[in-house]
Amino acid sequence: MDIQSLLSRQTRTFQSPALRQVTLEVLKVNGVNLGQGVCNLPAPAFILERANRAAIDGINRYTNPRGLASLREALSRKLAHFNEVEADPGKNIMVTCGATGAFEGVCGVLLDPGDEVIVFEPSYPYHMQALKRYQADVKVISLKAPTWEIDFDEVRNALTSKTKFILINTPGNPTGRIFSRAELDQLAEIIEPTACLVVTDEIYEYMTFNGEKHLSPASVPSLKNRTITMGGYSKTFSITGWRIGYAVVPEAMGEAMASFLDAVYVCPPAPLQQAVADGIDEFKDEFYAELCQKYQNKRDYFVAELTKLGLDPQCPAGAYYMICSYERAFPGVSSGDFVARMIRETGVGGVPSSDFVQDHQSARWVRFCLANEDEVLEDAIQRLQRL
Ligand code: PLP
Repeated sequence: MDIQSLLSRQTRTFQSPALRQVTLEVLKVNGVNLGQGVCNLPAPAFILERANRAAIDGINRYTNPRGLASLREALSRKLAHFNEVEADPGKNIMVTCGATGAFEGVCGVLLDPGDEVIVFEPSYPYHMQALKRYQADVKVISLKAPTWEIDFDEVRNALTSKTKFILINTPGNPTGRIFSRAELDQLAEIIEPTACLVVTDEIYEYMTFNGEKHLSPASVPSLKNRTITMGGYSKTFSITGWRIGYAVVPEAMGEAMASFLDAVYVCPPAPLQQAVADGIDEFKDEFYAELCQKYQNKRDYFVAELTKLGLDPQCPAGAYYMICSYERAFPGVSSGDFVARMIRETGVGGVPSSDFVQDHQSARWVRFCLANEDEVLEDAIQRLQRL
């Protein structure tokens, strides 16, 4: 029986991002994988202990599709304190299976085939994949390296009466770019006459450098009523496998999103929801300040060392990735070929720029993930000298 021929068209045409292949190739040579955005640092002992305790205490059943009330309440306090966003735990907050689950819910309840969505590139590949699955008509606005500045005339031209939302990722993956107040104000002014929403992925909100503060679009008064905020604890607490994220949605969207995600996966893991709630209440501002410092040190080390190797790294303002151009040292080489060569010669994996942009030809850079112990980053730099 030919099972392959039974697969849906969507499944057969699905293209996995190159980073999956990179992971396999790096494993084969027992190398250092700075490709996948997995956080390889240990999770805080406090929340591990709380997860254990929650399971032993019997928090093991399906939760409300909107999530455990204790976590929604903790999120509401954190959103008011850190993000300056008012969110009612009963009306606006939805606990989701990661920020990935949040975006699935947002797309599921908002998009009809052909609806338009504006996306800035380079963009996070999972966003693009989800939008394709929902058959959105994606209008891509390409940001130009190395500043990744937005041309707001392009935004104006891309916006139509069919634009459901503009997708923002701040701090951004892979660029580390942080949206400024002036940019958000400009965006607000452009969409003001339309019904376009802003959907913002803020999963790296606690990783900003040189004292720069994260700014949530929903805290900007002119965007407040039209913004859906997505976030999660995969990165902040180094628990990518727990699948705890959230969305802050307008009240009128809450029931639809809860029903939709209930039908897709019922709820995120109950004891892990409780442990994250405990972590949010336990960790004070110093915990997050230390997190920023730790990642800033890794960033500074990597920029300095890659520069010594004759490559051209960019210094990100936030998140835990680094874009590095190899064009000067290896002119004319495609990003896929460069990464293949890097793995072959050094064992170090990174993600080719082709995973983040549609114009594969002109983007000549690689993304490294810095969420690794210092020894791993040092090993990677040693190995890269073989290039
Ligand atoms: N959003 C962005 C921009 C990411 O980079 C990632 C992970 O790499 C995610 C979402 C996934 O988040 P979660 O683990 O909460 O689903």
